[in-house]
Amino acid sequence: MKFIDDYRRPEAVAALVDKIKRVAARKWMLMEVCGGQTHSILKFGLDRLLALEVDWIHGPGCPVCVTSVELIDAAVELAQRPDVALCSFGDMLRVPGSQRDLLTAKALGGFVRTVYSPLDVVKLAAVDASKEWVFFAVGFETTAPATALAVKQARSLKLTNFSILAAHILVPPAVEAILSSPANRIQALLAPGHVCTVTGLKDYARLSQDFKVPVAITGFEPCDILYGTLSCLEMLEQNRYDAVNCYTRVVKTNGNPAAQKTIYEVFESCDRNWRGIGVIPSSGLRLKAEWSDFDAIEKFALQTVEAKSESECIAGSVLQGEKKPDECPAFAIRCTPDKPLGAPMVSTEGACAAYFKYR
Ligand code: SF4
Repeated sequence: MKFIDDYRRPEAVAALVDKIKRVAARKWMLMEVCGGQTHSILKFGLDRLLALEVDWIHGPGCPVCVTSVELIDAAVELAQRPDVALCSFGDMLRVPGSQRDLLTAKALGGFVRTVYSPLDVVKLAAVDASKEWVFFAVGFETTAPATALAVKQARSLKLTNFSILAAHILVPPAVEAILSSPANRIQALLAPGHVCTVTGLKDYARLSQDFKVPVAITGFEPCDILYGTLSCLEMLEQNRYDAVNCYTRVVKTNGNPAAQKTIYEVFESCDRNWRGIGVIPSSGLRLKAEWSDFDAIEKFALQTVEAKSESECIAGSVLQGEKKPDECPAFAIRCTPDKPLGAPMVSTEGACAAYFKYR
C-alpha cells in the first residue's frame, strides 16, 4: 500500500471488518483520541460497520476545541489593538470567546490574518516593521516544532516586532486525566499517529502500563483505524495490554528527536486550562524565560482572566467521552456550523461538526 486510495479500498476495509467481527465476543469501548480520527470514523461509516463490536468514545484531540476561552479573549484583545497584526490558523477564527470571536474582531476593524505556518509570520514581521506581528500558537506536539523554529528564526533575524500567544498543549497529560477520572469508561485507546510522529511511543507505552489498557498508535484512513481497532480488540479479548504501533509507515519508536529537541529548546511544560475540561497539570507549553521577549502575554501585559464560555454547551463532556455530540440538547437545533455555540461545532476536527456533517 503506497497511496491514500489503498487505505480506503472497500475489499481491504471489508476484510478488516470481517476479522474484527470474528475477534470480538462482545462490545468494547474504544476512545479515538484525535478529532481527525473521529471524522474518519463517521465519514467512512466505521461506527455503523462495527455497531455491535465497538462503542466509539470521542476524545479531546482537537486543539481548536480545547483552547481556553481566556486565550481566545487575549487573541481578540490583541487583534483589536491598532498596532498589532494577529495571525492565526483559519480554524481559530470562528471559535467563540467570552464576548466575540476573531472573525467578529476582524469585522469590527481588527487586523486578523490567516496563515498556514508561523514561519510566514516571521517573514511578514521582517518586511513590515510598522506592525507588531503576533502568532496565535495553537496545536499539539505536531505544530509546536514549527512555532519553536519561528521563534528561533525571529531571534536570529533580530526581529523585535514578532511574538507568539502560546496556546500549545500536550496530549498525554489530557489522556491521563481522562483515564484517571472516576467516570472513565474507556477500555482501549487509538492514539494519535501524527502526535506520535513527533513524540514516539514512550508516553503511550507508559499510559498503557499505568492504566492497564491496550493502546494502538493509528493513522487516519479507514484501514489504519480498523487495523488499530483490531489490535486493541485482540488484546482486550485475550486480557492483555500493551502499546503497539499500527502506523509504522509514519511513526518511529523514538519519534522525531530533532523536532523534540527544537520544542524543548524554546518551550517548557506548564499547567494549562483546557476549554470545558479545566486545568490539567503539565499539559501546556510556555516559552522558557530566555525566550520571554517573544511572549505576547508579557510584551503586551495581557491579563488572561479565566472566563466562562457558552452555558448551554456540553463540550467538556463531549471532549472527555462522557457524552456523544447528538446527546447535547442544542445539537443541530441551536448549535450548527453556521451558528456554533461551542468550539467542537466550529473546528474541522470537532466531534460535533463531524456528527453534523455525516449524521
Ligand atoms: S453541539 Fe454545540 S452546544 Fe452542544 S456540545 Fe457540541 S458545540 Fe457545544
